[in-house]
Amino acid sequence: MENQVEEIKKKLDIVEVINKFVPLKKRGRHYVACCPFHQEKTPSFVVSPELQIYKCFGCGKAGDVFTFVQEYNRIDFKDALEDLAKMAGIKLVRSTKISGEESIKKRLFEINRETAKFYNYILLKHELGKEALEYIKKRNISEETINKFLIGFAPPDSRLIINYLLKKGYKTEELYKTGSFGKSQYKQGQSYDRFSDRLIFPQIDFRDRIVGFSGRILPSNKNQNLAKYINSPETEIYHKSQMFYGLNLAKESIKKNNLAIIVEGEFDMISPYQAGIENVVAIKGTALTEEQLQLIRRYTETLILGLDSDFAGNKAMIRSIELADKMDFEIKILDLGEKYKDPDEAINKDLDFFKKRLNEAETIWDFILASSVKNYGIDSPRGKKLILATVLPFLAKINNLVIRADYIKKVSQTIDSDEESVAEEFKKYLNQNKESVSNLKKINKIEEKGDMRERLEERYLILALRLQKPKIAIKLLKWKTLRFIKIGGVIEKITKFEAKKVAENLDPELLDTFNNLYLKAFEDQNSAEERRKERSKILRQIEELELKDRLKSLSDIIANLEASGDEKEIAKVEANYAQILTKLAILQRAKS
Ligand SMILES: [Zn+2]
Repeated sequence: MENQVEEIKKKLDIVEVINKFVPLKKRGRHYVACCPFHQEKTPSFVVSPELQIYKCFGCGKAGDVFTFVQEYNRIDFKDALEDLAKMAGIKLVRSTKISGEESIKKRLFEINRETAKFYNYILLKHELGKEALEYIKKRNISEETINKFLIGFAPPDSRLIINYLLKKGYKTEELYKTGSFGKSQYKQGQSYDRFSDRLIFPQIDFRDRIVGFSGRILPSNKNQNLAKYINSPETEIYHKSQMFYGLNLAKESIKKNNLAIIVEGEFDMISPYQAGIENVVAIKGTALTEEQLQLIRRYTETLILGLDSDFAGNKAMIRSIELADKMDFEIKILDLGEKYKDPDEAINKDLDFFKKRLNEAETIWDFILASSVKNYGIDSPRGKKLILATVLPFLAKINNLVIRADYIKKVSQTIDSDEESVAEEFKKYLNQNKESVSNLKKINKIEEKGDMRERLEERYLILALRLQKPKIAIKLLKWKTLRFIKIGGVIEKITKFEAKKVAENLDPELLDTFNNLYLKAFEDQNSAEERRKERSKILRQIEELELKDRLKSLSDIIANLEASGDEKEIAKVEANYAQILTKLAILQRAKS
């Protein structure tokens, strides 16, 4: 297994592989691009052909060809191995353990697909699906759309699907693992389908695999106490927090329009899609998870949320907005007003209205302000107070200071108050809520100071790595940081400097450190002369730190000696102290 990973790495060039997903440009020794993992306008994503690694200096993502394919495609190691082996033209010899796990997942996907196809057949072709078909047609869903989404109907008698799957050779245990089936508590030896007597929406992930199901009861169902919708439980292949319904079909359009419309539930996704608005995906519930945001980020940085209208009061949603804002998403809100309860209804009754509202989607901040004004009114001091109480927590979460300042202005205008008092209220709010944050900052500052020596050494090593013969420059410095001493040691041992050779001879634990330093070295835009000056400056600064350290310890010694009264010894140490002090003075004079 391990050998095969190495074999694949040897056959593939990281530049070629990444270039397939993200177009790379050559810059000096490296290749660069705008980072696919975070939003940026100037490239800080660097790929090194020498070290066969990548690193983003913006968000910190880094790794080799395997981690790239995993992260970019959001797949696990085994899938990445498969994809890369294919690219390299290498046939994988599998260890039994991995192939066991892998084939279980594969079987679960197969079972899900068979199940979906079976239910789709029942819905479209079978007497048992007639009522369900009538219902879905009444909701204006065409047969073409039914097939595209593989919508189906699970008949009330579970035995039909279960026998069908068993006959196909799947085992009962495997059926349970899909999450769709369970062991009957009432009829011994029998299994049941948790989705029976429901309209079935297969949950297809962005890689076109059916990971689970969602089932809706029909309005004609006699037992209306049942939950309207049920979903697959979390399984080996179904993770609700990573799922966007419809992304398999919508992703191209999202990319093209640089916009994703996010709605709640299947019908709200299917209706716009069928009406030609294809850049739409659905989530379950009103909260977006970090995983979902990372996934959608690959296609766009603009979101329009078309969710339940009172979502602004929902804590989970506030958290989602915070997350999205941190990731630099631009968030807008689709407001359908009082007229229609959801996108599905709006589209079926007035498509033009829906499109118009989409075009007029407000930014999230405007929307929150407008909806709290609507809720509390601006006529009373109490109303204004409540508006501020709703708006300020959001304001605190805006990362961009320009947007924040604009928003303070807007709030003051809206509630007819002056800007200063709103800003004052905001400051009060921050003071009440940010104590913990400022404490953390203080701690960080202290740590930073202690690390001065380390930071200088790091910077020096970066500058040295840019040289053809870093060895000489490295020897000039009195190193104190163990990591750098080790790296310097390896460089000294190698006759002709080559990054690859250093990486090969380095303690694996230090490989990341070295890779980062080396990439940074070649990202430096300064001229050779400027770099040389910076090196001498660091040498001086470190010498200075060194001298100060020695003065400190000498004055400790003197204090101790004074207690003992050993005049002779004191005089000796004091002479030494004066010597160093002179040295330091000379050094500091040279600096200025
Ligand atoms: Zn990045």
